Amino acid sequence: MTAVSDCLFCKIVAEEIPADVVAADEHTVAFRDISPQAPTHVLVIPREHHVDAASLASSTDGGVDALVRTAKRVAEAEGLGNGYRLVFNTGQDGGQTVFHVHLHLLGGRPMAWPPG
Ligand code: 5GP
Repeated sequence: MTAVSDCLFCKIVAEEIPADVVAADEHTVAFRDISPQAPTHVLVIPREHHVDAASLASSTDGGVDALVRTAKRVAEAEGLGNGYRLVFNTGQDGGQTVFHVHLHLLGGRPMAWPPG
């Protein structure tokens, strides 16, 4: 799917609005969350617009793998050898607020379970 004109994260991909980008490749962009919930809080997104993880998984891109691979690279670069959390908030009840799929990478502190 091509870029969606009113999508915040499509604008970050297009560099129309600034972001603190920590990794980028052909398929993905990773940037620091504007409101970090952990010492490391990075969002990994596909360059292509997909609403959520299920939509991305159904696409021919197979892009969920690419998001996880980029998250792993960022986690290594951030020194998260002790572990980290990967989260797809999905839909309203899942806590999703930006409807361009993004994988949260959280680390740098012990994580509690269950999440709120
Ligand atoms: P969600 O709630 O959809 O799972 O996560 C959306 C995330 O995007 C939130 O953690 C929020 O802080 C982050 N966010 C919202 N707007 C911006 C922005 O303009 N720049 C960055 N870097 N992060 C944003």
